[in-house]
Amino acid sequence: MITSILPTYSRALLTFVSGQGSWLVEEDGRRFLDLGAGIAVNALGHAHPALVKALGEQANALWHVSNLYNIPAQQKLADALVEQTFADTAFFTNSGTEACELAVKMARKYWHEKGQPERVEIITFSGSFHGRSSAGIAAAGSEKMTKGFGPLLPGFTHLEFGDHDALNAAATDKTAAILVEPIQGEGGIRPLPDACLKGLRDLCHQHGILMILDEVQCGMGRTGKLFAHEWAGVAPDIMMVAKGIGGGFPLGAVLATENAATGMTAGTHGSTYGGNPLACAVGAKVIEIVGDEAFLAEVNRKAALMRQKLEGLVAAHPDVFDAVRGAGLMLGLKCKATNTDVVAAGYGQGVLTVPAADNVVRLLPALTITDEEIATAVDLLDAAASQVKGADA
Ligand SMILES: *Cc1c(COP(=O)(O)O)cnc(C)c1O
Repeated sequence: MITSILPTYSRALLTFVSGQGSWLVEEDGRRFLDLGAGIAVNALGHAHPALVKALGEQANALWHVSNLYNIPAQQKLADALVEQTFADTAFFTNSGTEACELAVKMARKYWHEKGQPERVEIITFSGSFHGRSSAGIAAAGSEKMTKGFGPLLPGFTHLEFGDHDALNAAATDKTAAILVEPIQGEGGIRPLPDACLKGLRDLCHQHGILMILDEVQCGMGRTGKLFAHEWAGVAPDIMMVAKGIGGGFPLGAVLATENAATGMTAGTHGSTYGGNPLACAVGAKVIEIVGDEAFLAEVNRKAALMRQKLEGLVAAHPDVFDAVRGAGLMLGLKCKATNTDVVAAGYGQGVLTVPAADNVVRLLPALTITDEEIATAVDLLDAAASQVKGADA
């Protein structure tokens, strides 16, 4: 008999009842060090006092009004994002998937407005993840996500991650946009080297192609800059944001230049909940905290500490781990043992990690994790690794 919750997830037998900072409490009282942060969502950890306060104040004042009216918290968040990024304008969604929907629509509408309506093709890459909607799965294109869900939304060209020749051949005057994650998350913490991101930007300029970056997972301070593409010194035309921006409250956004947003006039797009006062009150507080230079400097310092300790962990368990990869506090342990065995062993030791494709264990801690918690985390992972059957066993 089917479960009362549609069984699309295979869940661990863990029930968390409260959280504080980097820690979660299970209903049996055990404490878990959370290195998953709801998959890069709880950027400021659990129950951050400033976010609890912002949400509480907004909840007492007003929960919801339609986008038919001005929403001050939404205006505040949009202004902050425009001030701190490449973008001239922002649209708010409830999720990364919805941000993908608008990014695709916006890119196509742009070419329609420019009098080149045949320019609809969007280039994407193997191992990518852009959400679970019809556009999202068509964009990613993997069999795992698309099988049985056809007919798929047309107009996506899928290239092998890192195949420069294929990319040069595929970029034509039919190409509307290139859509890429600066660091693939679900794909297994696979960073696009800065030189490649620059090369992509040049290619886009050369053909007039719009560059869409999906920073749903790697954005909002996770890599030690507010957005990951800043490391490469390039800027996109359109960017998808979600996960960390709401700190745990459902919130996403599409950021765009004025040029890329050409054509997105009144009536062309909308959302009932997108930009809701509760979500934006929290989002405005998140960006106020994460966008601060001193905060980002701390993320970088702690990221270096964590990486160094993880290198030691890999060296200590050469039959379980292969390498550390990623950037900032978006780290992956490429495994030799089975990644899900490592995650399961972590549950036994009281540490939460997240599996990803390419046999990787993801570490996406709260950006507020302390030095002491980093040391504890690596000790717990060390204990977990000792329980795992290695590749040579
Ligand atoms: C999680 C994710 C999405 C989808 O976001 P949802 O909020 O789950 O809809 C899209 N792109 C990337 C890179 C993601 O990590």
